[in-house]
Amino acid sequence: MYLSEEQIRLHLTYKTLIPAIRQSLIDYSSGRVDQPLRQVIRVKDHTGAFTGWFATMPVVAGEFMAVKTVTFFPDNAATSALPTHQAIIELLDRATGKPLALMDGRLITEMRTAAVSAVAVEALAPGPQTLGILGSGVQARSHISALRAIQPAFREPSAVRIWSRTQENAQRLAVETGATAVPIEEAAGCDVVVTVTSSSTPILLGKWLEPDALVLAVGAVGPHLRELDDAAMQGCLIAESRQGAENESGDVLLSGAQVHAELGEILAGSAPLPAARRRVFKSLGMAIEDLTGAVAVWRSLARPPSH
Ligand code: NDP
Repeated sequence: MYLSEEQIRLHLTYKTLIPAIRQSLIDYSSGRVDQPLRQVIRVKDHTGAFTGWFATMPVVAGEFMAVKTVTFFPDNAATSALPTHQAIIELLDRATGKPLALMDGRLITEMRTAAVSAVAVEALAPGPQTLGILGSGVQARSHISALRAIQPAFREPSAVRIWSRTQENAQRLAVETGATAVPIEEAAGCDVVVTVTSSSTPILLGKWLEPDALVLAVGAVGPHLRELDDAAMQGCLIAESRQGAENESGDVLLSGAQVHAELGEILAGSAPLPAARRRVFKSLGMAIEDLTGAVAVWRSLARPPSH
């Protein structure tokens, strides 16, 4: 069975995805998930010039197994109508090894990433009133939706402040989502600050952050990439996965920041909430989150329609 993005869109909602992702992070940090680090190939064209990344992400958890192949071709934004991130997820039965479904993975990647951030805000930021978004692409849009789903204060147009490298793109997203386009210092001064750019050098400077801000560092997926400067990394660091942060995050590796705990450990109560007021949550994306999204779709398909 193959499920297209249009079919998946009918079966995936933040209402079901956010609690499922919360549980999957607890399962991961409790050792109930078998998941190696992703394998990444840097792709070059026939001249040897770098064009993009190609990664595979396998996982075994619960009653299922899954593998995602994902590509990231940043130039697609300027040179083609294709998205920069494209993916396919294969879902398999753990008991028998039987392949169950092949799903387009683009929307699942988009939504599960924002769902992880929603879980982080619920756990790490008490009562935030303002949301700063640095970036205006796919993840910027999905983060606004997911974070509004868990925090009603973010539904106010003045509460969501968007900055992007290309000002017209920030403006366009602000109009589309009922938010406000602002200079970067203003977006960085919010209670929750989300970095969702494809920048490879720091765009968020610590000197702009409030003392009790929560930063959701979502971009810069790779050991040489940065979105945050060293000062921004000085908050207490919570990782989606310690192994991921210590191998795949330039913000962590190059700043020398130490992981305080995994989010799943805090959710499970096996690690304390950090006392430090400024918190940085480093997300890199995990196969268990893709499996969780795919299983949510699979289960929704199996349910008889309600009417
Ligand atoms: P898009 O291609 O949709 O958007 C990219 C954004 O990055 C645009 O807003 C663009 O700004 C901005 N940008 C690109 N280059 C620069 C630069 N040099 N400096 C500042 N801004 C720049 O990508 P996505 O929204 O899908 O992904 C955003 C980031 O999140 C990427 O780094 C991606 O790898 C990461 N990601 C992380 C995941 C995770 O699980 N942690 C999962 C999926 C993605 P403008 O248009 O204004 O020029």
